[in-house]
Amino acid sequence: MDLYSGYINKLIEELSGLPGIGAKSAGRLALHLINMPKDRVQRLAKTIIDAKENVRYCNTCYTLTDNETCPICANSKRDHSVIMVVENPRDLAAYEKTGKYEGIYHVLHGAISPMIGIGPNDIKLKELMQRLEGDVQEVIIATNSSLEGETTAMYISKLIKPTGIKVTRIASGVPVGGDLEYIDEITLLRALEGRVEL
Ligand code: ZN
Repeated sequence: MDLYSGYINKLIEELSGLPGIGAKSAGRLALHLINMPKDRVQRLAKTIIDAKENVRYCNTCYTLTDNETCPICANSKRDHSVIMVVENPRDLAAYEKTGKYEGIYHVLHGAISPMIGIGPNDIKLKELMQRLEGDVQEVIIATNSSLEGETTAMYISKLIKPTGIKVTRIASGVPVGGDLEYIDEITLLRALEGRVEL
């Protein structure tokens, strides 16, 4: 028996496909949306579509941005000779929030995970290697301390070593399996300051 109309069921189904939204939350959100004024629902829908249509990868670091080059890469006051490698734009945001990192970034959009079939070619690794042809003094590997993050760090370090560029890994103050996004700024800064050469 259908408790709701077909439209609401469809809405619940779509919402429950989002990360962190279970069936209960999806039901609550769907009813909330239906009860919202029509202009607010339209604004929300438009915001989602606009973001999807206009957000793209920075042509240098591959973070998400509205422009060809993101504000960090476009900032001449940043130290462009130091590149911090992170798994995703949320990790970049976590380091940016500390306000203490002066270098630039490279976003891999994932980590190597043989278990689920994600190999080096499935993340932005070629793109990182291409950037190293420029004037780069240090690559700081700030992938997560999960198995995938460590595997990725080792892989990148082996690739970069022959180039003679300094490769460092953030300190293991970051809890194992910890998502960088949820780690406080002091811990992140300690991890960055205590980085070790690989
Ligand atoms: Zn960028």
